[in-house]
Amino acid sequence: MAKLSLQHLDKIYDNKVQAVFDFNLDVNDGEFIVLVGPSGCGKSTTLRMVAGLEDITKGKLIIDGKDVTNMPPKDRDIAMVFQNYALYGHMTVYENMAFSLMLRKENKNVIHQKVMAAAEILGLTDQLNKKPKQLSGGQRQRVAMGRAIVRQPKVFLFDEPLSNLDAKLRGSMRREIMLLHKRLGATMLYVTHDQTEALTLADRIVCMSMGYVQQIGTPLELYDTPANLFVASFIGLPPMNLFDVDVLEDKLVGDGFEYQLNDHEKSLLSNYVGSQIVLGVRPEHIDVGGDILLNVSNNENLGQNTLVHGHIGKKHSVAKIRDWCNYKPGDKVNVKFVHVHFFDKQTTNAIR
Ligand code: ADP
Repeated sequence: MAKLSLQHLDKIYDNKVQAVFDFNLDVNDGEFIVLVGPSGCGKSTTLRMVAGLEDITKGKLIIDGKDVTNMPPKDRDIAMVFQNYALYGHMTVYENMAFSLMLRKENKNVIHQKVMAAAEILGLTDQLNKKPKQLSGGQRQRVAMGRAIVRQPKVFLFDEPLSNLDAKLRGSMRREIMLLHKRLGATMLYVTHDQTEALTLADRIVCMSMGYVQQIGTPLELYDTPANLFVASFIGLPPMNLFDVDVLEDKLVGDGFEYQLNDHEKSLLSNYVGSQIVLGVRPEHIDVGGDILLNVSNNENLGQNTLVHGHIGKKHSVAKIRDWCNYKPGDKVNVKFVHVHFFDKQTTNAIR
């Protein structure tokens, strides 16, 4: 277990591309941190700098009080599990898991104990004599994790470990990783582009865009109080509906609809009267009743909920109604916004 401190990390690649700008994060002992953001936002680069697989252009990396910024990977006591888990095909599951310890010339009995303990944790005890090609995708992914576990590293790093698996397996592996984290109590850094993985796995999420950290917080903080328009539209599925609106004294006027402000909202927006802001409402915070019209184009039943696609004013919008609804294209449904977010149009920051 370990504490990590990433201080003002910059990464500029040889081709002058700056992939990461001023990354700052203190990771607590045993914490599960998920770096999330769209492809190319700098998540893997950050993880690889922690692993020592990429040089740190500027800044400091501290593990348990020790400056490891310029230390080679093998001395950092970190284990990385990749998306492309490339097991050794000619070795058994047991040998795959034992391999790194054999390279370190560990005692045979110690190796055996560690491999058996990891196999037990991962439910691989009956598979130890098999070759990787005899295993399912999920089992192979578990062997890859087993290879990391036997080393008992200070920190586990995961780079999109589930993205090669089908949707159902991703769900079950996600639960396994959660349990693994609980059992090992280890510090983990996990990279994904999938906001669902971030929300379900993380103690804290680091949301990134274009090399910059946009917000760091618990899943609930990012969902409830997104710091800016990027986080608001990236976290949550379907994404938040966003409307450009004019601010009047007592209401917001959008393209074809109005939203009445309550007293709290009026004082919050008092400095914005006469200008435009962005009004955000999550699909699950649109409910039936009220005086905003949703023109239905498509009704998707999900069981307990219905996704109602359509237009509010001129803007394409999605409502997630807590019921089984049977709206037809062309229906006009009266809805209300039960919880909204406001964003400054210039800075894109949340107005709070
Ligand atoms: P993510 O993991 O969020 O998809 P990456 O960290 O892989 O993003 O990449 C961030 C940026 O750095 C991208 O613009 C990518 O093209 C660039 N990049 C990644 N690796 C290299 C490299 N070895 N050389 C040059 N540019 C790179």
